Amino acid sequence: MSTILKGIAASSGIAIGKAFRLVEPDLSFEKIAISDADEEINRLHSALDAAKSDLKTIRDHAMANLGEDKAAIFDAHLLVLSDPELIGEIEGKVRTNKVNSESALKETTDQYVSIFEQMDNEYMKERAADIKDVSKRILAHLLGVQIQSPSMVAEEVIIVAEDLTPSDTAQLNKQFVRGFTTNIGGRTSHSAIMARSLEIPAVVGTKTITSSIQDGDLLVVDGMNGEVHVNPTSEAVQKFEEMQKNYEQQKAEWALLKNEATVTSDGVHLELAANIGSPNDIEAVLKNGGEAVGLYRTEFLFMERDQLPSEDEQFEAYKTVLEKMEGRSVVVRTLDIGGDKKLPYLQLPDELNPFLGIRAIRLCLEEQDLFRTQLRALLRASIYGKLRIMFPMIATLDEFQSAKKILLEEKQNLLNSGIKVSDDIEIGIMVEIPSTAVLADQLAKEVDFFSIGTNDLIQYTMAADRMNERVSYLYQPYNPAILRLVKMVIDGAHAQGKWAGMCGEMAGDELAIPLLVGLGLDEFSMSASSILKARNQIKHLDQKEMKVLAEKALSMQTAGQVVELVKKETEL
Ligand code: PEP
Ligand code: MG
Repeated sequence: MSTILKGIAASSGIAIGKAFRLVEPDLSFEKIAISDADEEINRLHSALDAAKSDLKTIRDHAMANLGEDKAAIFDAHLLVLSDPELIGEIEGKVRTNKVNSESALKETTDQYVSIFEQMDNEYMKERAADIKDVSKRILAHLLGVQIQSPSMVAEEVIIVAEDLTPSDTAQLNKQFVRGFTTNIGGRTSHSAIMARSLEIPAVVGTKTITSSIQDGDLLVVDGMNGEVHVNPTSEAVQKFEEMQKNYEQQKAEWALLKNEATVTSDGVHLELAANIGSPNDIEAVLKNGGEAVGLYRTEFLFMERDQLPSEDEQFEAYKTVLEKMEGRSVVVRTLDIGGDKKLPYLQLPDELNPFLGIRAIRLCLEEQDLFRTQLRALLRASIYGKLRIMFPMIATLDEFQSAKKILLEEKQNLLNSGIKVSDDIEIGIMVEIPSTAVLADQLAKEVDFFSIGTNDLIQYTMAADRMNERVSYLYQPYNPAILRLVKMVIDGAHAQGKWAGMCGEMAGDELAIPLLVGLGLDEFSMSASSILKARNQIKHLDQKEMKVLAEKALSMQTAGQVVELVKKETEL
C-alpha cells in the first residue's frame, strides 16, 4: 500500500529508489544452558567463518570504492576474528560453564572491551571499538540476524536511518546513494547540511521512517515538499519523474548565470559565497558560480579519521582551497567541535548540555595546542590566496581578544623563524549567540567582519535544540526577534565601515533573501547548490523596495505574518 510520511525538506530535488535501512539490528538473546559443548562450538565456528567471509567481501568493496584507508578498518576487524586467545577463551567458557555461544562470546568480548577502554592509549581504545564491532557481527550470525554495511551498497538506493553522522556518510558509496531520509534532525542539523553539499535530495525529521518501511520498499524522497512516498503507484512515480525532469530543467536555466555578477535590479552588488566542508567541495563551488568561500567548516578535516590531522596535513588542505579559489576570498572557520560534532580520538567529559558547553572557541581556548597548530597551518597557507580567519561561537569581546592574541603570537613566531605570512588577513567572528548580536556595535570596533550563523543564533535565541524535530517549529528565521538581531549585526558592522555576511542556512532561503537584501546584508554564504537560484532571485529584487519590506517585517508580531508579507510582496 502506498503511504506518505511528512518530514522536513532538507535538500532539494526528487530521488526515487529502493530503501536501504541503516539501523541497529536487534541482537538480544537469552543465556541458555547447553548439553553438547562440541555441537555448540561447531555453531560458534560457523558464525566465525560467516563473519570472516562478510568482512573479506566488505574489505574488498571498501578497497575498490572508498580507498585503502577505509579498507584498513576491516583488516583490523579480520585480525580480531582470527585472534586465537580471544576465540580460545570463548570456547573455554562454552565448555566449562556449559552456556550457549552467544553468552560466552558476549561475556568474553565485554571483558576485553572494558580492559582496552580503560587503557590510557588511543590505539588500544580503538581496538576496543574493533572488538565491539566484530563481536556484534559474530553475534548477528549466531542469531541469524542481518547486519547492514553502508560500504556494501552497490545499487541505487535511498538510505533510511535514525540519523546520519559524518562518519556514516564517509562510509557511504556516494555513487549509489540517490537520497536519504532520517527519523531525527531539522533543516540545520549536520545531516541536512551534508545532503545539500552532496547535492542529494533529503527529508529529515520524519520521526518514524525506520520503523515504517522495509528494505527494498520503493521510496520517493521529495526534498522540495519534505515528504517521503512509500511504495507509490506507478502513476505517482511517473508524476515524480516529471517533477525530477522539471527541476533539472530549472537548474539548467539558472546555470546560465554562472559567470554573472550578483546584482539587484537597482544595481547593488552583493557577494554570493559558498559553505564548504573539504577541499573537494571547491569543484561544486566553481561549477555553481560561487564568488567566494564564506564558510569553510574545518572540523570535517578532523572528524573523518582516527587521529588529529598534523599541522602539515592541515596546511595542505587550506593551501589547496586557497589555490583552487584563485584569489577569491576564503573564510576559514577555526575548529568548531562539541555539540553534535565529536572527535572519536579526543576524549571530552560528558556534558549535560553539550550545545551549551565546551564547544568551538571555548574548546580551542582550553586546548591551546590544538588551536595553535591549526592557526599555524592557516597562517602558513595564507600566502596562497585571500584568507579570512573566523572564530566560531564568540560570546564576549574577551573571547575574541584572547583568540586574536594567540593568532598574533603564532604569526610573530612564524615570522621570527623566517616563514612568510600574508599581511592582509581579515579576522572576523561568527555571530551565533544573542549576546554578540546585541553588542555588535561594540564588537564591530574590534573585528574585521561578522558572519551571522543563524543555525545556532536561532537555536540559542529561541532556546530550541536544532537537532530536535519536536521543537523544529521554533526554528523561525522570519521571526521579527531574529530579524531584529540580524539588523543589529548589519547596522553595527556598517557603522564601523565593516562588512556583514551570513553563513547560516537562512542565507540561502528564498523567503529570507528579500528581507536580508532589505536589511543590507553584504555577503550571503550558502550550500553551493543554492547559489545560482539565489543569484536569479536577487537579480529581480530592488534593494530600495526590499528595505521598505524589511522595515515592515521588523514591526510585525509573528513569523507567520512576515512569511505572508514576503510572499505577497515578492510573488513567491
Ligand atoms: C551556524 O550556526 O549558522 C553555522 C553556519 O555553523 P554550523 O551550522 O556549522 O554550526
Ligand atoms: Mg554554528
